[in-house]
Amino acid sequence: MQLDEFATAALRELEAGHLLRRPRSIDTSQGPEVEIEGRSVLCLCSNNYLGFANHPRFGLAVSEALERCGYGACASRHVSGSMRVHVELESRIASFLKRARGLFFATGYNANLGTLQALSGPRTLLLSDALNHASLIDGCRLGGGTTRVYRHLDVEHVETLLRAERARHDAALIVTESLFSMDGDVAPLAALRGLCDRYDAALMVDDSHAVGAMGAHGVGLATGAEVRADVITGTFGKAFGASGAFVAGSDPVVRLIENRARCYIFSTAPSPVVPAAALAAFELVEAADDRRAALRERARTLRDGLRHLGFQVPASDTHIIPVLLGAPDRAMEMSRQLFERGVFVHGIRPPTVPEGTSRLRVVAMATHSAEHISRALGAFGELVR
Ligand SMILES: *Cc1c(COP(=O)(O)O)cnc(C)c1O
Repeated sequence: MQLDEFATAALRELEAGHLLRRPRSIDTSQGPEVEIEGRSVLCLCSNNYLGFANHPRFGLAVSEALERCGYGACASRHVSGSMRVHVELESRIASFLKRARGLFFATGYNANLGTLQALSGPRTLLLSDALNHASLIDGCRLGGGTTRVYRHLDVEHVETLLRAERARHDAALIVTESLFSMDGDVAPLAALRGLCDRYDAALMVDDSHAVGAMGAHGVGLATGAEVRADVITGTFGKAFGASGAFVAGSDPVVRLIENRARCYIFSTAPSPVVPAAALAAFELVEAADDRRAALRERARTLRDGLRHLGFQVPASDTHIIPVLLGAPDRAMEMSRQLFERGVFVHGIRPPTVPEGTSRLRVVAMATHSAEHISRALGAFGELVR
């Protein structure tokens, strides 16, 4: 069969490049330790930064919403109406991020796709960081504007592009992650804001890895006076330990997204239990200064320890700690050897990261104990010897 042949050939090619993906199956909830194939292993690769994913508060919120609203949302909100819990969550998003409006999406991938598609037209200039997440890349493609990719974190490059191209476009949008998902470094958001003000451009910040985990009360990195992001997207799937995502911005911006984002309009709204859980997560996250402090401390110990062992760990000071290895087979082999030693950390390969920069993406969690961290470093240490 023609399609099977196509698929088989494509899979063979991925396998030959050590790029075939096969997720492991986990038999417990997401915590600092998880059970895989009958073994308890230490988890170093989850985005459950604050450790809330298995918090009992979710059970209460979900069962209460289930009783009140049932399970299915049954259509797009434009078709069968917004259930109250979705609207309630959106006011919470807006007040948390100090923006006029928030809009709830099923996933962060969709939030970025829909936002960029809705906010750009043929005469829009989109300036996109070279290491932006796939959902931002795809969103830029979908909008039909002109996309220019600037060197990672390079403000001068952004300015060069604006100087050369801004006048030929009706609008310009700088698109960046705040805390970069695979590199753990942080965009120069204040400097990008300065360029926006000087060149009449807008700033869109994907705060997925920082919201909840960083900033006062977990507000993230995009709301400060020196940043003033015009559009903020983020997920509830990481530090919030929940599911779903958001965009926040001014009233006209969010209303336009609501009216134009095809992945929002032509898709059934998430079950009411999903926004109910996100609302519960807000309560957990806002009160979690202790967990954010623990997260920073665990990350620092891990990073310093890995550097001390001689691993190539780029300079930055966040909870995402890349261990650069180069070739994809090297990353996968090291992941395998760590798993044998009871440590679960998956290899990250192209196209998630550029060619030649395959890595282990080591992630700290607030709920890692000091013993977990030293066990992790012990396993890495054995690989060095
Ligand atoms: C994880 C991630 C997303 C997608 O969010 P989901 O809710 O998982 O779909 C978007 N942007 C960045 C930078 C991410 O890391």
